[in-house]
Amino acid sequence: MRVQFWGTRGSLAKPGPTTLRYGGNTSCVEVRTADGTLVVLDCGTGAHDLGLKLAASTKQPLRGHLLITHTHWDHIQGFPFFAPLFARGNEWDIYAPGGLGQQLEVTLAGQMEYTYFPITLAQCGAAIRFHDLTEGSFEIGTLRVTARYLNHPALALGYRLEADGVVVVYAVDHEPHARDHAGPAGGDRRGAPVHREDQRHVEWLAGADLVIHDAQYTVEEYPQRMNWGHTPAEWAVDYAMAAGAKRLALFHHDPQRDDAALDRLLEVCRRRAAGSGLDVFAAAEGQVVELASRAVGAIRPEPPGTAASPVATSPAAADTILIADDDPTIVRLLTLTLEPQGFRLLTANDGETALRIARAERPALVLLDWQMPGADGIAVTRALRADRDAELRDVPVVLITGLSGGENTAVGFEAGVTDYLTKPFQPSHVRTRVRTWLLRRGPGSRDGR
Ligand SMILES: [Zn+2]
Ligand SMILES: [Zn+2]
Repeated sequence: MRVQFWGTRGSLAKPGPTTLRYGGNTSCVEVRTADGTLVVLDCGTGAHDLGLKLAASTKQPLRGHLLITHTHWDHIQGFPFFAPLFARGNEWDIYAPGGLGQQLEVTLAGQMEYTYFPITLAQCGAAIRFHDLTEGSFEIGTLRVTARYLNHPALALGYRLEADGVVVVYAVDHEPHARDHAGPAGGDRRGAPVHREDQRHVEWLAGADLVIHDAQYTVEEYPQRMNWGHTPAEWAVDYAMAAGAKRLALFHHDPQRDDAALDRLLEVCRRRAAGSGLDVFAAAEGQVVELASRAVGAIRPEPPGTAASPVATSPAAADTILIADDDPTIVRLLTLTLEPQGFRLLTANDGETALRIARAERPALVLLDWQMPGADGIAVTRALRADRDAELRDVPVVLITGLSGGENTAVGFEAGVTDYLTKPFQPSHVRTRVRTWLLRRGPGSRDGR
C-alpha cells in the first residue's frame, strides 16, 4: 500500500516561510492499494495538488473513492478545487458520516453555491455517488474499511483501511474521552486506558502498520483547549503504543506550530516511544510512505464490536431522551441544547423518578447525573440493566460527571454505563455525542462490554 500526504495541517491552511517543511495545506491523504484502488482521505486544501496530479495521469478515466471524516472546512475546502470531479467519464464515490439531519450532498453543494463559488456541484462532469455512513465495516473492492465515530464537536468518522495484508488507520479530529488521561501514560504506559471509549479507540488502532493520528496539541496546551475535539500529540503516542502499532504519523498540525516547534514536539514524542518499537514521525506535505504487502492471514482480526451495517438511515428526530439531574441548571442546559434538535425530552430530579419514567416511557437514551439524592446514577443504571424489559436493559445510559478519577469511571462501566458526559460541556459536543449514542443503538449494536 502506498500512502502520500498532500495536506497535513489542521483547522486552517497556513502557507508561508515557517511551515515549508511540514506544509501549510489542510488534511488530504492519498492511499493506493496494490491493485490500484484509489482512496482519498479528506479533501482539505491539499486536495488541489493531488487533483492536478491525478488529472495529468495517463490512466483516464479515473475511478476514485473519497472518504471524508466530517465536513468542517479544513476537511472539505479543497473539494471545489479537486480537478478529477470536473472531468466527464470519471467516477467518484464519496463517503461521510450521515445522521445529523443534513445529507452529505447538500452540505458539499452548500459551499459551492453561487455566493461562494462559480461552479455548482451539479455542474461537475464526473459521475458522483454519495454515501452517508454510520459506524461499521464495508468493502471498497479488495479494501476493507472500518469506520468508527470519533470524539469531536461535529459528527466525525475515522477510517481503518485493510488491504494487501496492511492496515492504515486515519484518526483525525478526535479528542480523548478521559480528560485526565488515566490511561497509558498514567503509570503503566503499556496498560489499556481506563475509559471504555478510549479502550475501543485503541482496539480499533490495533496492530496497524501506520496510524495517522490527530496530534494538534501538546500536553501543556491541552488544558486550555479541552472540548475543542483534538488530541495532545503525546497521548496519540500512548494510544499507538497501547495498540501495538508500527508507525505513527503525527497529523492535523496546529496552524500556530511552525516547523521548528513541530521538530521539538516530534522529539518529545520519540522519547516517549523510545524502546517500544513504535516509529513516530510528523507527517509532511508531499511525503510518501510505502507499506510492504504481507500475507493476508497476517492481519490481526478485525476489532470487536465494529461489524455493524455501514450505511443506515438517520435516527428518528422524535427519539425520546430522559434527563435526570438534581441540578436544575444542568437540566435546563441540556434541554436548551437538545430540544431544538427535535428530540422529545423527559426530565427528573432524582433517581427513583428517573427509573419510574424510564419504565413507563422506554426512552431511546438516558442521561443520568452520577450524584443524585436517593438512588444515584450508578444505582439507576444497575436497575435498568436488570430490568425485565429487554429494550430497557439495552438502552444507552450516559452518566453526567465532573472531572472524575479513573476509578470511578471504571466502577460506572462495571455497572453497565455506556459512556460519560463530563462537565463542563459545550452544546455542540452534547449534540454530537447524543447523535453518536443514538446511531450506535439498534438491534445487536450494544455488545455488552
Ligand atoms: Zn480538522
Ligand atoms: Zn473538525
